[in-house]
Amino acid sequence: MKLTFCGAAKIVTWSCYLIETGTTKFLVDCGMFQWPKEITRLNYEPFLFDPKEIDFVLLTHAHIDHCGLLPKLYKQGFSGKIYATSATIDLCKIMLEDSANIQEKNIEQENKRRKKNHQEPRFPLYTEEEAAECMKLFSPIEYTKTNIFTDTIQARFNDAGHILWSGNIELFITEEGKQKKLVFSWDIGQRNTPIIQDPTTIEEVDYLFMESTYGDRKHEDAEGKKELLIKYITETYNKWGKLLIPSFSVERTQELLYFFNIIIKEGKFPAQKIFLDSPLSIKATEVFKKHTEVFDEEALHKYPHPFDFPQLECVQSIEDSIKLNTYDQPCIIIAGNGMCTAGRITHHLRHWLSNPKNTVLFVWYQAEGTLGRYILQWEKKVWMMGETVEIHAKIWKINGFSGHADTDQLMRRAKGFMKAPKMTFIVHGEGTAQTTLQTKLEEIGFTCKIPNIKDQIEL
Ligand SMILES: [Zn+2]
Repeated sequence: MKLTFCGAAKIVTWSCYLIETGTTKFLVDCGMFQWPKEITRLNYEPFLFDPKEIDFVLLTHAHIDHCGLLPKLYKQGFSGKIYATSATIDLCKIMLEDSANIQEKNIEQENKRRKKNHQEPRFPLYTEEEAAECMKLFSPIEYTKTNIFTDTIQARFNDAGHILWSGNIELFITEEGKQKKLVFSWDIGQRNTPIIQDPTTIEEVDYLFMESTYGDRKHEDAEGKKELLIKYITETYNKWGKLLIPSFSVERTQELLYFFNIIIKEGKFPAQKIFLDSPLSIKATEVFKKHTEVFDEEALHKYPHPFDFPQLECVQSIEDSIKLNTYDQPCIIIAGNGMCTAGRITHHLRHWLSNPKNTVLFVWYQAEGTLGRYILQWEKKVWMMGETVEIHAKIWKINGFSGHADTDQLMRRAKGFMKAPKMTFIVHGEGTAQTTLQTKLEEIGFTCKIPNIKDQIEL
């Protein structure tokens, strides 16, 4: 069989791998290239394969860098099935609809500029209608059971502990009477992440594809995260300020709400309002509420109904979001997007960033070239929305909220295999995160490669 790295090689986003056996061609993920923004035109480049020839797709989870180009695949002639867990399918519905909406709006703006310059108009990557049509191709898999796709290809989805019911895939391919096992271990979450189950330990593998987003870092533990949250909230409230949290809609937001619910119940901070100012996050939280069957023990029994507490206010309309500008009490505002490249958070930042009473708290990796990264680097001022905004607010980051395992947890996973894989491909990462993980894996006897995009390997 042949595997082509169509993305997520030496970068974090754009997850897409093509596998070709003698009779079948299929993809694992078909994600979008997300940042830096200047080169997101790469999403418009032709695929490295003919979509019409792809038999099916195995989808690990609903983040846009894993599923975001599925409607483009459909638009270009793919008509096979997309296999994923039922929660992933529910989340994909809202994520792809939102993504299509962003594509359409962006192109509308771009075309206004192009018209002025007498250039031909461009078309969106896909429309909401195309995203909706693509959703008809989704088919739920049997979780933790072996799913048979052809005579020679089977796969088992296990918990990746990354977002609600995200899957690590154990893929079994038989060629010339011999079975080979590939494990796609991304995006792999942390142990003890609230709400969701811990990642499943896998003991056997021939070829391992391992993520490396935080291959060179150590996260705070759950208790550490909670204490830091209390510290930053108290500090801000003592100044009668506002705590702004740029957050991603799926998982991070729900994890934050889960902690706020606990902290308020424990009486650890004054129970001021928490505004969830993001229609997408509100919809994603509804999907979480629908799939309590996959919650962990703590979320089911110790702190049940984590998203229902009186201080939480969901802000749907733009008018209500604008009204927050005149809200004169200390509060927490959670708004997207998580890297401050667009969305309601940018409006709140423009309004509150120059006031020293306020705090901006990052709970997510900030990619280079994003507004979030500039703010996090303690720049004194930033250029945003056509104006210069001075930064006087306090800026903090909590690493422990990452949905990705740190070095220790990745190594713990590697040590869970009974014997070293024939080959480990270090993917979904950049620079020293990859090389540090490579060194550590080689110290325990693994043979590793860090592939490039477009690399092809025979397995
Ligand atoms: Zn992810």
